[in-house]
Parts: sequence; C-alpha cells; structure tokens
Amino acid sequence: MRKLAFGYSTRCNLKCEHCVAAGDIPESRKMDYDRAKEIIVQMVRAGVGGISFSAGEPFLYINEIKELVNLCRQIGIYTRIVTNSFWANTPEVSDRIVSELKEIGLCQLRLSYSRWHQKGVNRNNVLNAANSCQKTGLNYFISFVTDFSASDDPYEAFLRDHDLLFFPEPVIYSGRAASFNRRYISTDYQANGCEMNPYLTPDLDLYACCDAGSHFSKTRFFYLGNLNDHKVEDLFNKTETDRLYHLIRTMGLTHIASFAGMSSRRIITYAKCELCRELFNAPETVFRLRAEISRLEAWRR
Ligand code: SF4
Ligand code: SF4
Repeated sequence: MRKLAFGYSTRCNLKCEHCVAAGDIPESRKMDYDRAKEIIVQMVRAGVGGISFSAGEPFLYINEIKELVNLCRQIGIYTRIVTNSFWANTPEVSDRIVSELKEIGLCQLRLSYSRWHQKGVNRNNVLNAANSCQKTGLNYFISFVTDFSASDDPYEAFLRDHDLLFFPEPVIYSGRAASFNRRYISTDYQANGCEMNPYLTPDLDLYACCDAGSHFSKTRFFYLGNLNDHKVEDLFNKTETDRLYHLIRTMGLTHIASFAGMSSRRIITYAKCELCRELFNAPETVFRLRAEISRLEAWRR
C-alpha cells in the first residue's frame, strides 16, 4: 500500500531543540486548503491508502485537518495525526476533542513525547490524550523520542508507570538536532534497511523520505519533484523504480556503505539516518553508486 506523510503546514507552537522538521525548510509554510483536498483525491486515484498528517503541529489547523480526515474517510484512506498534545490540557477537553476525531473517522493518533517536547507541553497532556483514546476506542501510540541517555529514564518510567503504549524512536541528528554533539555509538553490523515513506511539503514538493532525507541539500537525493509539475502517480512510480532507493529498502545502508568503500569499523559508529546522510548527501558517492549500480545489485553473498 502506498503511504504518505502529509505536511499540511510546517508551523508549530513549540520549538523543540531536536526537531527534524525544522532546518532547510522554512518554518511557517502552509498548504492551500482547496489544493490539499484536490491532492488527496489525486492520491487515492494513485493508490495511496494511508496518510499521516505530520510535519509542524496539525492541531494548529485542526478544523481544516478534520475536514481533510473526513474526506479521507469518505474515499477510503487510512488516517493518522501526529501531535504534541498541547491541546489536551484537561481530561475533559481531551475527551471532547478525541471523541470528535473518532466521530469524523480518524484511524490513529500518534503522540510525540520526549524530554525536549516536554519542555513546552506538560507530560500530563500526553497522558490525557492517551487516556481519551483508550476511553473512546481510538487507536493511538506514543512516539518516545530518545537519545538513549540516562536523562530519558524518568520520561520512560512515566510511560511505564501509566501503562501507556509507546515505542522508542531514536532522535534523528538532522534539522535542529544537527547541532547536537554526535554521540559515539557502536552498533551491531545490522542491515539498516529503510522503508522510506514519501513526504509532501506544504509547497507540494515530494520527497522519497519523510525524515532526515528531505534535508540532504548537497545532492537533493530524495527529491522526487513538485506536484505542480508532475502527477502524483509519476512521482510514486519514480520512488518505487529508482534502483538505489530499492537497494536502501532491500539490501540496507550498511552493505551499500561497505560497497562504497567505508570501513566496517566506521560503519558501526553511525545510526541509520546518519549513515544514510554520509552516503547520499555526498555528490561523488551518489555519482559513483549510480554509475556502478549493476555491480552493487550483484553485491550479495
Ligand atoms: S518536534 Fe514536533 S512538536 Fe517539536 S517543534 Fe518539531 S514539529 Fe513541533
Ligand atoms: S535512513 Fe535515509 S531514507 Fe531512511 S528515514 Fe533516514 S534519511 Fe530517510
């Protein structure tokens, strides 16, 4: 099933230090509402079955987002909203808003949570939102963004103490987090494959990757094109038929890095998106990998 991260707006009420959505992309862009509706209809015709409203904070435009979710429901698209829960100040307010979302057909709420988010939003808001989802039967999960340091232990303990559904997500050292000190890690020699969900910006630029990849400014490696100039179908075909993208999904970044000449000792010091940047935000490496793509495809045990 084709899926998409739909960046209706990059505007946010917070300014988290780790935000990957901030960076090269201007911070307060917003898509035209009528154009967004047209695009969603084009998406379903192109076989898109799931849309995640993300990027900035979607609840800043909640009335428009609700209309878009409702449209998705009518045409059979699965929907998710990613939010920092600033709106869930009290259990009562949270219950009311979540009930409305459930009623218009939202499929899932993803609640962002971390020691950076919680500088701007009380963690009880996340608890309120999660409890409201449980009460109304709206599917939810908490995305617990962490750098795996001891500072995050009390944040994780809070989620465990309240028996909430959460999944740790490694902080991505891109956007604002690009200024963080790079942590020294030593991973297993794991494949580092990536599913690569496309990301649509408010300016209608479509990228093959929804996270750090939209910031690869030296190569624009994951840039697919703009929907004002291309059909949705053509851009999805592009991401599905590009031979290097295919290898990222199937072979994984680690083997590509080894093929490109990076030493094994160095490869295991990178988290996935960092390794991806080392390879694909370097013009010479991209040029070489594209030139030697057939040999790379045959690089198997
Ligand atoms: S991480 Fe999320 S909540 Fe924080 S500034 Fe970025 S978009 Fe806003
Ligand atoms: S590994 Fe690469 S393609 Fe995957 S999310 Fe990170 S930057 Fe994007």
